[in-house]
Amino acid sequence: MERIENDYVFHRDLKKEYPIITHGVGSYLIDENGKKYLDACSGAVAANLGHGIPFIGEAMADQAKKAAFVHTMRFETKALHQLAETIGKMAPDQLNKVYFTTGGSEANESAMKLARQYHRDAGRSQKHIVIGRWQSYHGNTIGSLSAGGDVKRRHAYTPNLLNYAHVYSPYCHRCPYDRQHDDCLSNQNWTCVTDIERTILELGPENVSAFIAEPIVGSQQGAVPPPPGYFEKVRELCDRYEIVLIIDEVMTGFGRTGTNFATEQIRITPDIITFGKGVSAGYAPLAGMIVHDRLIEGLIQNSDGKFIHGYTYSGHPVAVAAGLAALDVYKRERVLDNVIKQGDYLFNRLLELKQKHTYIADVRGRGLLIGIELVRDRELDLLFDPAEKAADRLNGIAMELGAVFYPGAGSIDGTKGEHLIISPPLNAIKKEIDEIVRILDESLTIFKSLER
Ligand code: PLP
Repeated sequence: MERIENDYVFHRDLKKEYPIITHGVGSYLIDENGKKYLDACSGAVAANLGHGIPFIGEAMADQAKKAAFVHTMRFETKALHQLAETIGKMAPDQLNKVYFTTGGSEANESAMKLARQYHRDAGRSQKHIVIGRWQSYHGNTIGSLSAGGDVKRRHAYTPNLLNYAHVYSPYCHRCPYDRQHDDCLSNQNWTCVTDIERTILELGPENVSAFIAEPIVGSQQGAVPPPPGYFEKVRELCDRYEIVLIIDEVMTGFGRTGTNFATEQIRITPDIITFGKGVSAGYAPLAGMIVHDRLIEGLIQNSDGKFIHGYTYSGHPVAVAAGLAALDVYKRERVLDNVIKQGDYLFNRLLELKQKHTYIADVRGRGLLIGIELVRDRELDLLFDPAEKAADRLNGIAMELGAVFYPGAGSIDGTKGEHLIISPPLNAIKKEIDEIVRILDESLTIFKSLER
C-alpha cells in the first residue's frame, strides 16, 4: 500500500493535501509558503473575530495556568457562572439556564435528550421522536445526524440512524412543495407548515418529543431565512401537540445575522436554543444549550433536578475563558453594528455580481451570513448536476486566488441548487469585503472559461 512519508494525519479526505497554516492575522490565514487566504467564511462560520487577538489568547493561558480542568460533576468555576449569566441575559427572557458542551453536535444531542427526559418524567413516556428538516444540519453524531437532513452524510450510516422524521423547510425561491409564495400568503395555506402537522398526526402526537430547526438554514442550503410568519406557525403546532421546539443557533448565534440570536428575528420563544461556533469565536471548542424555565421547572419537579447526561469537557475552564473573552470583545468592539453595516454592503455588492454572472440565481441571508445559489443557467433555471461539484470547484479557484468560501452541494431531486456561503469575521472591514467580492468575481470568470 502506498504510504505517504511523514504523514500520520487521518485527513478528512485521505487523497487530498491541505495547506499547512502557520498563523492567522485578522481575517487572513497564512500558510507555510507565506500564501495568504482571506477567510471569507470564518473557517466553518466559527472564527467570528478573525485570528490573533492577544486578549482572548491571554485569557485562555491565564486560566490554563490557574486550573486546567475542573470536573463539573463535582466542582465549578466562577468563570462558568459568569459566562452562563452573560449568555442567559443575551437570550430570550424565559431562557435562563445554560448547559455547556464542546461542540454543536453535542449541544443538539443534549437538547434532544433533555426533551425526551422532560416528557418521560412528566408521564408522557411515549414521546421520543424528533422531527427535523431535510434542508438542515445539526451535527455528525448519530443523534444529530438522524435529526438533520444532510443526505450525503446520512447515506453511509442509514442502518445506524434513529427513526426520526423529516419535513422540508420553506424555500420560497425554489419551493420543495411546488407552491408559489404569493398563493401561500393569499390563502394562508402553507404546505411547509401543514406537512409538519400531517407528520405529527401520522406519527401520533403522543410519540413526538421535539421539533428541531435552524432559524436561518446554514450549510445545507446556504443562508436561507424563513418567510415571515413561518416560525410563529411552527410554535403554535409545538404548543398544540406538546412538542419541545429546539432552535439550532450553532451557526447563527452571537451576532452572525445582525442580532445576538437569530431567534429575535423569527419572533418566537423557543424551548431550547443550542449554540456553538461563535460563542468562543473559534478560539476553543465550546458550545451548549440555553433552556426555557418551563423545562427546568419540570426537571426540578419530576426528575429530582437531575439531567441524566454529561460530558467530561462540559464547561472546560479554558474554553469558558475563551468564551468570556470573546463575548467581551464582541461587546466592546460593537461588533453587531459592524455586522449590519458590512452585511448590507456585502449583500448589495453580491446583487451587483448577480447582474454580471448568470451562474448566480439567488442572493439571500442576514447580517454576515449570506449565501448565493449557483446554477448552470439562471435564465433557463438549469441546475448543476451535483456530481459536477460546481460550488466545490468554484471555491477551489477562489482558494488559488487567495480567498476561501464555504461551498455546499445541490440535491439530486432539484429542491436546492449548489451554493456558496460568504460569512467573513464579524469585525471584517470594507476593504476586506471588497476583496472578497473581487476574488469571487474573478473566480466566476475563470470558472466560466473552464466550462467552455
Ligand atoms: N448545527 C449547525 C447549524 C451547524 O452549522 C453545525 C456545524 O456546522 C452543527 C450543528 C454541528 O456543530 P459541530 O460541528 O461543532 O459539532
